Amino acid sequence: MFKGVMLAFAVMALLLSAVHAAPVKVVATLPILKEFAEQVGRDHVTVTTLISGFESEHSYSPKPSDLKALGQARLLLEIGLGLEVWVSGMVKNAGNPHLHVVTTSQGVLLIQDTPRGGNDHGNPHIWLDPENAKIMSAHIAEGLTAVDPAHQEAYRENLTRYLRAIDETQKALQVRVSALQDRRIVTHHAAWPYFAGRFGFRIEGEIVRQIGLEPSAAHLATLARRIKTERIKVIVSEPQLNQKVARTLASETGAHLVVLSPLPGAIKGTETYLAMLEYDVTRLIAALES
Ligand SMILES: [Zn+2]
Repeated sequence: MFKGVMLAFAVMALLLSAVHAAPVKVVATLPILKEFAEQVGRDHVTVTTLISGFESEHSYSPKPSDLKALGQARLLLEIGLGLEVWVSGMVKNAGNPHLHVVTTSQGVLLIQDTPRGGNDHGNPHIWLDPENAKIMSAHIAEGLTAVDPAHQEAYRENLTRYLRAIDETQKALQVRVSALQDRRIVTHHAAWPYFAGRFGFRIEGEIVRQIGLEPSAAHLATLARRIKTERIKVIVSEPQLNQKVARTLASETGAHLVVLSPLPGAIKGTETYLAMLEYDVTRLIAALES
């Protein structure tokens, strides 16, 4: 009898906690981190982002609501590597002692930009390699478990499911790229080394060496000559960048200009991370084959 009552209480408590447990408030710097957090957290999280999918990952204009969101959040997700240089100042200003910061680039094998690139942290566009997306998602699961241990099991299961989905897409795309003869590209800015490394594309040059700096006429002339003499067929630009220089270079050299997105959502058909990878690889293959 007593046991039965205890059991009934336990079940009731469980039901109540399931009903009343408010989702964990998460703030992500980039939409890509929001997506990873939603994949791992599902209905146990509500995620807001500081940078939208239509902005460059290098630009951030603070809104008053951002500080408020940080003040109420349990978890802040960042890439790290100097990409979000403004984060530490915001965290300080938010003055939220309950905020737990997850740096998702921890443990990722970094690619260094060319010495001229000036970023001594390593290239920050790590998410464009799906193997890194797996590491980042695992960090997010760890962070969620730390602030919300009651749903540890759900986070673990969701993570496992997502890692499997990433893996399937990655393998299918790798098979398609492996059939290509010519995999050489010139890119607008250094967003693509992790992507190229994983899928087997070869980056032969970059239009912009450092984001925010216009390329010199001498650099553009050298690049144009190289594209022509080596018959490089594809120049990759991005919707977040001004495509004028890339377009000029393409028409000067006869190379195809392909607009790919390094962040989900900026181009129709890239609404999710995996859709974006598929879109980028498919468009690139089509341009290299034409
Ligand atoms: Zn970038």
